[in-house]
Amino acid sequence: MNSANAVFQLLPSMDRILNAEQVAAILSEVGAGQVKKMASELLQEIRKDIGSDPQVAEKRLQDATFFDDFCAELIARLRDRHAGTLVSVLNLTGTILHTNLGRAVLPDSAIEALTEVARAPCNIEYDLLMGKRGDRDLHTEQLIQEITGAEAATVVNNNAAAVLLVLNTLARDKEVIISRGELVEIGGSFRIPDVMKAANATLHEVGTTNRTHASDYQQAINPQTGLIMKVHTSNYAVQGFTATVPENELAALARDAALPFVSDLGSGTLIDMTSLGLPREPTVQSILAAGAQLVTFSGDKLLGGPQAGIIAGSKELIERIKSNPLKRALRVDKLTVAALIAVLRLYQDPQRLGHRLPLIRDLTRDPEQIRALCEELLPRFSKQLAARARVEIQPCKSQIGSGAMPLDLLPSYALVFEPVANKGESDAALQVLAKRFRELSKPVIGRIHDGKLYLDLRCLPKAEILLGLLPELVAD
Ligand SMILES: *Cc1c(COP(=O)(O)O)cnc(C)c1O
Repeated sequence: MNSANAVFQLLPSMDRILNAEQVAAILSEVGAGQVKKMASELLQEIRKDIGSDPQVAEKRLQDATFFDDFCAELIARLRDRHAGTLVSVLNLTGTILHTNLGRAVLPDSAIEALTEVARAPCNIEYDLLMGKRGDRDLHTEQLIQEITGAEAATVVNNNAAAVLLVLNTLARDKEVIISRGELVEIGGSFRIPDVMKAANATLHEVGTTNRTHASDYQQAINPQTGLIMKVHTSNYAVQGFTATVPENELAALARDAALPFVSDLGSGTLIDMTSLGLPREPTVQSILAAGAQLVTFSGDKLLGGPQAGIIAGSKELIERIKSNPLKRALRVDKLTVAALIAVLRLYQDPQRLGHRLPLIRDLTRDPEQIRALCEELLPRFSKQLAARARVEIQPCKSQIGSGAMPLDLLPSYALVFEPVANKGESDAALQVLAKRFRELSKPVIGRIHDGKLYLDLRCLPKAEILLGLLPELVAD
């Protein structure tokens, strides 16, 4: 019997590993340093095994396939580590603008534009005419002016940043008058009172949760007031006995008191959604026309573009905002600017938005077409998954998501999977099935409802994409 010390001698040397033919490809991919580090980890694990049971370890090390197995494990671990954690997925949750899944999908023109500026230097902040430093906002500002009628505009990292920047610039150490019905929390951590605090502004709430009148605002105005604000309630709605003050009245009230009136629209669409057969949503244009001095809205909600926060409105106020040092901290990068320009360009030709902008395409997709997709997929899925689940087509409702039009649901169709399981095990089986979909090479994210897994096909561009994953799904 060999002692542990003798067994250690059987371990492959680092030299042998690094020079092994099997390892050559991954080595050129990830570099010798990474291979060496991972090989050391693996060797260390085997040393531990030798320590705890030298006999079993010796057998394994003497096996003819040991070195091949070792290299295969090494390569698999390196691939795993280098695959990264950020991957593209199929969003079949039925929520079109899913914040956790990255919100809007960009149009091809935007992808091309951002690729171009990613690959080479660009004049993001350089004036080609004068040969000196330029203005980052210039590229998007003209388009925003043209489309919304705003005098000026600036773009920051997201709409939360836009609101923070507006409040910090115009209401630092001052009061912001806002209706109690609008003190909303949007998503995880964006709460109006907290943003107010972070901006060093003091919240002056008026009215009640369900009813706020012009006189409430009027009476709240005092020498400490910095601005009057209206916040789109986005992800919830107050219904029943309600009253809010329309933008044009608030704008007039603010103007009389020489105060800015700011509207945080959140989703901020640039087109009349009803013209597409969708629920009504205030447009940026209409709020500016009603007299708001500034409007803030997201780039990746109903606009359908990259993550960004847009502030549009009065030239004088935008100038003040741009000179706030926070602006520098919240500015957007060239990739965002390139993508945003491409998306805004599409709005210059609204008639073709449905073909060119993925968000509008998904929002306006004909339910019958979605059903046809389900029908195309059903036979193959129900046949091949027969041992695991019953599959059927069911009507369902898609949500717009990201706080846009929370009460309005769009009719759609889903492939619905009910696991085949023994009594009492159906919930576990459902979790296993959903996980199986999530672990595909292209993860598929559905929605669990009523003991079944729903795949709402509204955001599936083509049947082939899901069909192509079927062999992987049914493999053991
Ligand atoms: C979504 C939303 C925000 C935050 O926008 P992000 O782009 O997610 O930062 C702020 N205000 C309102 C009203 C919103 O709907």
